[in-house]
Amino acid sequence: MTPRPAEAGASVSTGPDARGHFGLFGGRYVAETLMPALIELEAAFTRAWQDPAFHQELESLARDYVGRPTPLYRGRRLGEALGGLRVFLKREDLCHTGAHKINNALGQALLARRMGKRRLIAETGAGQHGVATATVAALLGFACEVFMGAEDTARQALNVVRMRLLGARVTPVEAGSRTLKDAMNEALRDWTTHLATTHYLIGTVAGPHPYPWLVRELQAVIGREARAQLLQVEGRLPDLLVACVGGGSNALGLFHPFLGDPGVRMVAAEAGGRGLQPGAHAASLSAGQAGVLHGSRTLLLQDADGQILPTHSIAPGLDYPGVGPELSALVAGGRVQVERATDEESLAAFQQLASTEGILPALESAHALAVLARLAPRLAPDTLVLLNLSGRGDKDVPLVADTLGLGAGPP
Ligand SMILES: *Cc1c(COP(=O)(O)O)cnc(C)c1O
Repeated sequence: MTPRPAEAGASVSTGPDARGHFGLFGGRYVAETLMPALIELEAAFTRAWQDPAFHQELESLARDYVGRPTPLYRGRRLGEALGGLRVFLKREDLCHTGAHKINNALGQALLARRMGKRRLIAETGAGQHGVATATVAALLGFACEVFMGAEDTARQALNVVRMRLLGARVTPVEAGSRTLKDAMNEALRDWTTHLATTHYLIGTVAGPHPYPWLVRELQAVIGREARAQLLQVEGRLPDLLVACVGGGSNALGLFHPFLGDPGVRMVAAEAGGRGLQPGAHAASLSAGQAGVLHGSRTLLLQDADGQILPTHSIAPGLDYPGVGPELSALVAGGRVQVERATDEESLAAFQQLASTEGILPALESAHALAVLARLAPRLAPDTLVLLNLSGRGDKDVPLVADTLGLGAGPP
């Protein structure tokens, strides 16, 4: 670990342990053939993360290519609308490609180059992580293949075009429900047969050890920056952190540098979808049970026989039946609180941020805004809130327009 200034946050050991567990969650539940690759990756990341040259390279591209540090912006009109809160937005929506996902993609691509790999593969649901991976592949000269459920390639046609323009091969996956979890299985299968040349670039804090750990480390730049920025302008730590949760990478990235600060409350905003009946939401932290998916033990939406349930969210990036193991552990331990926002509440929050601040948030990020709006009446005025605006909403405009019945014609 590179030395960090004190304002970068207390260094708290939250795991994983030597076997990749966060309390009862995590681990490495994969076929024997994948074990050497995971062990190689763990060793390579451990070495890179201790090497100042790696950090220099990462920080230089994070600054000049991604646009870091992202601004910390005080939303005064939003704060007033919420009853007098001091709301600061961490503007990950201003990262190159429009969301926090590039922080992780860039770090893993640099790691893969050090490991001598020539090809990146990824799975993607809505296409956001596929676009981030195709982007860094172009930047660093990797071959790139992105697995995407056939259902999703149809729903997210624009992102398929983006990836192809960036030089990636997009492979539709016809198996199972033809969505994200099937794409993840296919990517794991491809990796198993191309281990020598290929790095599997997982897009969130999920999967077998070491992924949950290394993705968290790469995304913790969000919380480290925000912490220093807030101390600079407000002279104190926030009272409340809010972030949306799909797999959990933007939430953990924000939360992690504050885990050692008992006065900082942390709320994870899950996809409440159309309600709590099975299949109508993607709230794995609040409605899931422990089980194994994609190589780790975590909270999952499953039926009584352990079959993975279908999920729904208006926000494509939250539409996943699992969640990262570390976040499961933090919720089980009571350190992180979970709230759900429905599709409808999130749409309202999307419109509220647009009209109060002139910012169109990603529908994922709108879940965090919706949860804050729900908590607001019970918060003291002047409560200092730090909310992660994980992405921008341009990608969601057609869906929002359709849902709200907004067209190009007269109002
Ligand atoms: C993918 C995505 C998410 C959800 O992923 P996490 O790993 O939970 O952060 C949230 N917001 C945006 C904008 C996304 O693209």
